[in-house]
Amino acid sequence: MTKRVGVIGGGQLARMMIAPASELGIEIRVLAEQNGMSAKLAATATGDYRDLGTVRAFAADVDVVTFDHEHVPQQVLRALVDDGMAVHPGPDALQYAQDKLVMRQKLAEIGVPQPDWAGVSAPDELQAFLDDHGGRAVVKTPRGGYDGKGVRMIASAEEAADWFESFAGERILVEELVDFRRELAQQVARRPSGEMVPYPVVETVQKHGVCAEVFAPAPRASERTVELAARIGVTIAEQLGVTGVFAVELFETTDERLLVNELAMRPHNSGHWTQDGAVTSQFEQHLRAVLDLPLGSADPVAEATCMINILGGPAGAEIDDRFARAMRAQPSAKIHTYGKSPRPGRKVGHVNVASDSIDDAAYAARAAAAHFD
Ligand code: ADP
Repeated sequence: MTKRVGVIGGGQLARMMIAPASELGIEIRVLAEQNGMSAKLAATATGDYRDLGTVRAFAADVDVVTFDHEHVPQQVLRALVDDGMAVHPGPDALQYAQDKLVMRQKLAEIGVPQPDWAGVSAPDELQAFLDDHGGRAVVKTPRGGYDGKGVRMIASAEEAADWFESFAGERILVEELVDFRRELAQQVARRPSGEMVPYPVVETVQKHGVCAEVFAPAPRASERTVELAARIGVTIAEQLGVTGVFAVELFETTDERLLVNELAMRPHNSGHWTQDGAVTSQFEQHLRAVLDLPLGSADPVAEATCMINILGGPAGAEIDDRFARAMRAQPSAKIHTYGKSPRPGRKVGHVNVASDSIDDAAYAARAAAAHFD
């Protein structure tokens, strides 16, 4: 019988599960926040993912519940599990992606390398951390941040004064400012029954806190780095009981250490390259994993793949024309569109190019993406 996967959240990650689902004979149902979202190509209900009644009614019709984002409240997730629903990833794992302080505490317990950190609830505690770390640090809101929102580099406690006011009574996460050489991301797929498949570690480049480009596999990574990244990913997946595809964002330091920045428990922007550069895309792999089906190979199908995000550009720009121009100009580029209306800074699609060399892949991907500047 056809399996039904229910995805909470109607964004592009849900949308990109639709093509592999149809190949595998899986039905996707989406609970979208509103009408007309990216994932509207699948059977879509609309409703509030924070409302237990809404989510329960949605879940009643599917075999497994999974996610396009990590914002479904713990009490809603736990009620579904108590109802006997299969929820992947489950609430125990998701709490570590929902709260960066909870994540830091857990990673410390299991001995995974990460930046120095502390939870601070008053300016004098923050100043003490700054004094211990050369006068500079990164403060983060533990919950609700994304794409660099909720992250601030500071050189004095005053620079976070407004946060202490608006989050009165809650702790703020402070981290050492890591002097990284570059950022990497490690994805791992894990089934409820335990099978795990790591993807090759990739390099990610952020612009203004948003992922801009990904190079896969990470160029010039030493064998030790590749192995260590996979080991960190697998250890976290196992110890935190993650199910589905998940990503670990890493800093590679100038002295070749890997430190965990954060976790994403769902398909991730750093894995979009797999759609055209790996045997099994992260979206297919996620569906297999949450249904506890055998996982596919994560091997690359080309020497190198480059992924570039397309941001909205000026509101009202003729986005469809630009997509057509990019396709005409770069036939080797695989263009993915999210069906979103453009807005400055909004991710509306991405380009993948798989090639014999990372330079060629990056050149063609950039040339295609340039049609959106
Ligand atoms: P978000 O959850 O919004 O994606 P992140 O925690 O990933 O936020 O931080 C966004 C970016 O800020 C990172 O990709 C990195 O470039 C920079 N950053 C975050 N933490 C640190 C740190 N401790 N040291 C140096 N740079 C950091």
